[in-house]
Amino acid sequence: MRIDKLLSNMGYGSRTEVKKLLKSGSVKVNEESVKDPKQHVNPSDDVITVYGDRVEYREFIYLMMNKPPGLLSATEDAAQGTVIDLLEPEDAVFEPFPVGRLDKDTEGFLLLTNDGQLAHQLLSPKKHVPKTYFAVIEGEVTEEDIEAFRAGVLLEDGYQTKPGDLVILKSGLMSDVEVTITEGKYHQVKRMFGAVGKRVVYLKRISMGPLPLDEELELGQYRELTEEELEQLR
Ligand code: URA
Repeated sequence: MRIDKLLSNMGYGSRTEVKKLLKSGSVKVNEESVKDPKQHVNPSDDVITVYGDRVEYREFIYLMMNKPPGLLSATEDAAQGTVIDLLEPEDAVFEPFPVGRLDKDTEGFLLLTNDGQLAHQLLSPKKHVPKTYFAVIEGEVTEEDIEAFRAGVLLEDGYQTKPGDLVILKSGLMSDVEVTITEGKYHQVKRMFGAVGKRVVYLKRISMGPLPLDEELELGQYRELTEEELEQLR
């Protein structure tokens, strides 16, 4: 990434201020003075100093993305686009990965980080981190469905899910619901509805653990978690 962008990101001022700083000769990369704002550096390998002080590039990044449909929740794929394609280079340089998966056609809250330990914690079946989805269901969702979800649903492969919390927002030919589950089995929400004879036509994750999806984020946008949000997740 560019040295001016890196320094600006690290709080050394605006791009113009950083340009002046570079011009003054106070910035060194691997002991060599660097004056060109366009100079590329590798934050994890290069030793960068300003006035002799090492610039401590932080190790971890935590991003909340509003995943759009049509992209895979993966870091790379030979044939299809992934959510990583949406990242700015200065974020991609940290090599974040999605914590859990949303289906290609599912939208909403996707957490991306390079903090393996936190990812592991959040995905651990022991932790039972609740995930809430807004879904549009073909057909009428009933009290019996609520009961069935509450008891845990027997999926077509013989797996009995943990209890799910189903809330009907609007029932009719198309029903709007919110469903909260504490597991992350493949296609789980779709398969739970399949087990009660219904089809999910739209699915969006609206919260993960204590964190709601930031409504300001348009599809495909993302932002860093605040310190407070990160604390809540831990
Ligand atoms: N359940 C699903 O069926 N799909 C998702 O993407 C997430 C949960």
